[in-house]
Amino acid sequence: MEAALQTSPGPFTCEVLFGVVGFILILLLALYAWQRHIVNKRPVQHLCDYCGHMVNVVSDCHHAPVKEKFLHGICQECKKECRLVCARCKRPV
Ligand SMILES: [Zn+2]
Ligand SMILES: [Zn+2]
Repeated sequence: MEAALQTSPGPFTCEVLFGVVGFILILLLALYAWQRHIVNKRPVQHLCDYCGHMVNVVSDCHHAPVKEKFLHGICQECKKECRLVCARCKRPV
C-alpha cells in the first residue's frame, strides 16, 4: 500500500510541474502582450523645453494629431511627413 503511494507521485508531480511552468509562461506572455497594448494605447508625451513639462505633440503643418515615427511623424490631417510640435505652444519638441 505504502509502496504504491510512493511510486505513483513520480509522474504525477512531473505533469504538475510542466503544467505550472506552462501556465506561468502563458501568464508572462499575456502580461507582455497586455503591456504592449497599454503602451500602444497611451499617447506618447514629449518634454517641451518651453513649457517645461511633458506635453502631447501635434503636427507642425496642421496642428493635427500625428502618427509618430522615429524623429518625425505623419500628419493625420494631410497624411504627409511633418515635424512634431508641442500641442500647447506649437514649438518643436
Ligand atoms: Zn510647449
Ligand atoms: Zn498636415
